[in-house]
Amino acid sequence: MEIESVKGIGDKTSKLLNKLGIMTVEDMVNYYPYRFDVIERSSVDELYQDDKIIIDGIVEDEPRLYFFNKKMNKMTMRMNSGKNIFNITLFNRSFLKPNIHIGTTISVIGKYDKKHNTIVVSDIKLSKLPDVPVIESIYHSTNGLSSNQIHKLITSSIPYLDKVKEYVPEYLKDRYHLQDKLTSIKEIHNPHNKNSLKNALNYLKYEELFLFMMKMNSLKKEREWDKGIKRKIIDKDVHNFIDGLPFKLTDDQKKCIEHIKHDMESELVMKRLIQGDVGSGKTIVAVVALYMNYLSGYQGAFMAPTEVLATQHYNNLKELFKDKLKVELLTGKLKVRERKELLKRLINHEIDILVGTHALFSDDVVYDFLGLVITDEQHRFGVRQRASLKEKGVKPDILYLSATPIPRTYAITLYGDMDISSIHTKPNGRKDIVTKLYSNDQIKDVLSLMEQEIRLKHQIYVVAPLIEESDKSDLENVILLKEKLTKALGKIANIEVLHGKMKQDEKEVIMNSFKNNEIQILISTTVIEVGIDVANATVMCIFDSFRFGLSQLHQLRGRVGRSDNQSYCILISDRESERLSVMTKTTDGFKIAEEDFKLRGSGDLFGTRQSGDMHFNLSNIKEDFNILLRAKEDSMELLNSEAYVNHEYPLLEQLLSNTTNLD
Ligand code: ADP
Ligand code: MG
Repeated sequence: MEIESVKGIGDKTSKLLNKLGIMTVEDMVNYYPYRFDVIERSSVDELYQDDKIIIDGIVEDEPRLYFFNKKMNKMTMRMNSGKNIFNITLFNRSFLKPNIHIGTTISVIGKYDKKHNTIVVSDIKLSKLPDVPVIESIYHSTNGLSSNQIHKLITSSIPYLDKVKEYVPEYLKDRYHLQDKLTSIKEIHNPHNKNSLKNALNYLKYEELFLFMMKMNSLKKEREWDKGIKRKIIDKDVHNFIDGLPFKLTDDQKKCIEHIKHDMESELVMKRLIQGDVGSGKTIVAVVALYMNYLSGYQGAFMAPTEVLATQHYNNLKELFKDKLKVELLTGKLKVRERKELLKRLINHEIDILVGTHALFSDDVVYDFLGLVITDEQHRFGVRQRASLKEKGVKPDILYLSATPIPRTYAITLYGDMDISSIHTKPNGRKDIVTKLYSNDQIKDVLSLMEQEIRLKHQIYVVAPLIEESDKSDLENVILLKEKLTKALGKIANIEVLHGKMKQDEKEVIMNSFKNNEIQILISTTVIEVGIDVANATVMCIFDSFRFGLSQLHQLRGRVGRSDNQSYCILISDRESERLSVMTKTTDGFKIAEEDFKLRGSGDLFGTRQSGDMHFNLSNIKEDFNILLRAKEDSMELLNSEAYVNHEYPLLEQLLSNTTNLD
């Protein structure tokens, strides 16, 4: 039903609601609060300095009003709560003065400055607090539509709901004593008490995660029927190639190659994730896979998240394959004629491996026989890309490389539609990176370490959160850092910047000069985060490092320690030193991922923002992980049940067939 049918929703309001993605009454009631505020009289004894306080009382003296300038004013008074007397401070509410006198009853919400026994008020009402706790649902608002207004609109829409689609089967509701969906929807928008809210959340979260796992598991089951290329791979040919590589493979690398070989020989489509820390040597595993694919007569595509990385992989592949295989690079820089020429050679199978960004799968890029796709740093592409490959009607094997190690328990759930191989050990002969945490006033020590390394002819990465100065934030920025570092080290080092606002060819010029050691200090934002390989770099120095997630810091750290030289990771921060100290204690990416997961939830771990992989409306992957595990079992059980196969769950079937991707 259209939202305009709801009484009180006119043209203007419906336009605003549309902006929030709300088109129908169903969307409206599924627009869940992101937070609940419990309004309950605070017990002062249990509060600490600067805690939030909610309390009511009676005004004890006439409020005093001060003006700072035309715009700012402050009002102060004393309030007696019956147990305590507080100083009350209100900013910019001078208009309330006529309504507040000795004896007026007020309720205030604010920050409690315990030391000065003062409440700095953020919200005030001229009435007593209710005797029982009140739970308020808080919604993401938009310009012109406050959380409060949204709440009212939702409440008046609920009666218009003609039929609620309840996706969780009865027997599962019984299993977990879940209430029905309509009650849950009513309750989440107007909670009666904590307990009834909990029951509502139980149903809605379970349904959300259950549907997610239904999709995941049905993809997995679909795969069981996904026929692809069945190859015959001759061991001797592969071994000859491996023996010709410039180094000996580690046991983990060999194990991954075995897995891949097995997948490629099977008639089912390969969908395998290789996860391993930065520097663990995933690329060479992909290279061997590409070689096996070539031996069986197919073309390969190697997809990287950025052109800089694609170029690096291209150079790397050309060197490893020498003249044996024809490797080409598809970039946005090609002239129209060059591109045409290249695409013609591709379709004529005069190219064995094509390297590039996701442009490798533009409409006009047609392969003769595409047998293998490598996707580097896969979490950056997200599910959409995975789906779009499928839609092309080709069934190549797919290998994903990820430097974001995900603890196995989470991985098998969230990447449940893939097989996973992990590389735990790094190639030998590398010293551990020394990681140190400094505050901003210890910058002298940092500079002297930089000087030492430059004198040893080594190179340095410097990372800052911002590109240029901003009046909104005093975080360190790339442009200013260049000035500062040039003052300190400009005599002995060439210093350059690299950031996302630069043009592609500018970036490449800088990257190349850094590779050739014409630049000694490269200052950048996190554009260098992924995959760049300059073995001579020995220092990674990250300013305001509290701004980054541990997994991200770990990835940055992995840019150094790529040679036999001692390398350093310097974290500069005046905040969150406890969280950051995890970095000084371990270099194991799987452990760091686990810590990150505990501290910040899944956001960082999966690079969610970028990929859109893991967006849940209500559930939080960390807090609700146990529900997710149950949902995983339950959904598999249902998919395999006779009842499901006999189409007894049309609603669910319909939902699953409607979605080509997971978000
Ligand atoms: P990542 O897993 O981050 O993609 P790379 O594949 O780029 O790591 O490998 C990091 C570096 O280690 C590269 O310079 C690569 O040549 C080197 N390398 C990979 N495997 C081995 C090995 N078995 N022995 C020695 N060096 C290796
Ligand atoms: Mg890599």
